[in-house]
Amino acid sequence: MPQPSEPLPTLKKYFGFDGFLDAQEEVVDQILSGQDGLVVMPTGGGKSLCYQLPAMCLSGVTLVVSPLIALMKDQVDALLEKGIPATMINSTLSWDEQRQRIDQMKRGEFKLVYIAPERFRVAAFMEALKQVEISLFAVDEAHCLSQWGHDFRPEYMKLGRALEQIGRPQAIALTATATPVVRKDILEVLALREPFETVSGFSRPNLSLSIVEVEKHKVKHERLKKVVAKWKTGIVYCSTRKRVEEVGELLHSWGIKSIAYHGGMTPDERDRTQNIFISKQADVAVATNAFGMGIDRSDVRFVLHYEVPGSIEAYYQEAGRAGRDGEAAYCELLFNYADTRTQEFFIEGANPGYQTIADVYQFLQNDADANFEVQRTIDEIKEGAEVKNGMAVGSAIGILMRNGYAERFDISGKRMKGTRLLKPDQALNIDRHALEEKERRDREKLDSMVHFCYGQQCRQQAILEYFGEDDAQTCGTCDICINAFGGSAREPADEDELLIVRKALSGVARMSRKVNGRWEGIFGRGRIVQMLMGSKSQEIKRVRLDELSTHGILKDCGTAYLNELFRSLQKAGLVFTQRGEFPLMTLTPQGEKVMLGKSSCRLVWPEQHQSS
Ligand code: ADP
Ligand code: ZN
Repeated sequence: MPQPSEPLPTLKKYFGFDGFLDAQEEVVDQILSGQDGLVVMPTGGGKSLCYQLPAMCLSGVTLVVSPLIALMKDQVDALLEKGIPATMINSTLSWDEQRQRIDQMKRGEFKLVYIAPERFRVAAFMEALKQVEISLFAVDEAHCLSQWGHDFRPEYMKLGRALEQIGRPQAIALTATATPVVRKDILEVLALREPFETVSGFSRPNLSLSIVEVEKHKVKHERLKKVVAKWKTGIVYCSTRKRVEEVGELLHSWGIKSIAYHGGMTPDERDRTQNIFISKQADVAVATNAFGMGIDRSDVRFVLHYEVPGSIEAYYQEAGRAGRDGEAAYCELLFNYADTRTQEFFIEGANPGYQTIADVYQFLQNDADANFEVQRTIDEIKEGAEVKNGMAVGSAIGILMRNGYAERFDISGKRMKGTRLLKPDQALNIDRHALEEKERRDREKLDSMVHFCYGQQCRQQAILEYFGEDDAQTCGTCDICINAFGGSAREPADEDELLIVRKALSGVARMSRKVNGRWEGIFGRGRIVQMLMGSKSQEIKRVRLDELSTHGILKDCGTAYLNELFRSLQKAGLVFTQRGEFPLMTLTPQGEKVMLGKSSCRLVWPEQHQSS
């Protein structure tokens, strides 16, 4: 097999980037070493490059499975612009056109070919594909193959078999949905072979997450008032339209410029209101979860959850709309166990037992808040005895299928052309089993959310672990981190105290290295303390730690004090210990900020130092 070419020069030459983002380099290396893999990064994290760059280094063609024709086209256009030979094959092409592109693939005329998943069902297509040298098979938006994902697509389920049929090339899957169940489904359905798994980029160090247990409405009002007074610009999420209106009026009565937004409004109203917020004519938006997908306002300083959301995924996505500009932002969830009843009601209500298309409309109308996408579809559907717009019905059914409500309702192909007319009394083939499954899964997600609220682990760390980042650190800024000290934590009393912390952190930095923007430890705490104490021991000299500029800078503090200080710094999330063969200490992003004087800190200060 020919050796792949070097990634770095290719990165520069074709993509015009000087370096890698976060975990990209690690992923690319692993792919080029021939391994299957699963890559989980948030949207915008740079997933495409993870397969596009290897595609340019490998000899054959890389097939990319992608669910949306519009996205596919954008990607191909962008690649062509870079001078990369790419194309796509989907149902908008005639069979002759498809065959022609496959012939070109055989002749090695493309490096990347985007393929719609339903193509793999076509026997003639699969036959033709067998003669192509496929170096890599990349499944984008891989969560689509999991019923646990938010965007289930039955065609994706067949990809495992398709892989076998084309001779089982090296395969990788990419997604932004990191929950353990979804990841497990991906590994299983595609039958990835000893895959590497990379989850990265989900941490949001500028968000400070807080959960406040609240039983009375009056207390919720007080919290709301405090948060708005302190943070000014933000979003309040409520579970129901009724609550949105109530909270909206409350804010109004306090003289706060705010908008209220929910799925029950007409599209025009929604656009108008949304624009008021985006254009900064209002400071606070009160909304159901229908709000947020289209909004892009980077200076949102707070997100307040007035009630508990239905899942950790939903919570983090909504909270994540704060602080897009990278500046500090605050997220508070007002948790009352009684509110989980509302979520349970949504879960039960999603199992309406409809039999016909007309029932589907009814359901979509009623559940519009939980399903913004659906609401839009409804807007497209003309009311009347007979449904004229086959395409709109198609996408409504598509949504039902993806959510596991309907099993088989094959309107593909025809749907694209919008020619199929469906009558309201058309019977639906509903999969009761899938419905029950969905209900069970949604209950589990709600349970995880409740568990998270009651939990006593650092909020950020708990979320990252839920998403599968295995080296997640404590954040130092959430309610748990701050309370970890039983209220005895405080900011440095004076410049001297702050300086001690900054010196200690510089010592850690000197004894760590930075790889792709992340700190990695090289030494344990004991060695770092020895160095800061100015030890001249054999061991210190052997690795030349006595030559560091930080050698001995804290010798006045004493070993006992420094050991104690490091324990506090760890609790405060400024340093962390990497678990491994040896515990190695290094800086967290927050620790780096404090070291550079860009941020202060709160910690439990050790007893005054006695020299040891
Ligand atoms: P995702 O598919 O994960 O949502 P994209 O692949 O679209 O993310 O990448 C997001 C953005 O990051 C794009 O604008 C892309 O050009 C940019 N990007 C990706 N890799 C790099 C890199 N190594 N250096 C700089 N920018 C990058
Ligand atoms: Zn924390």
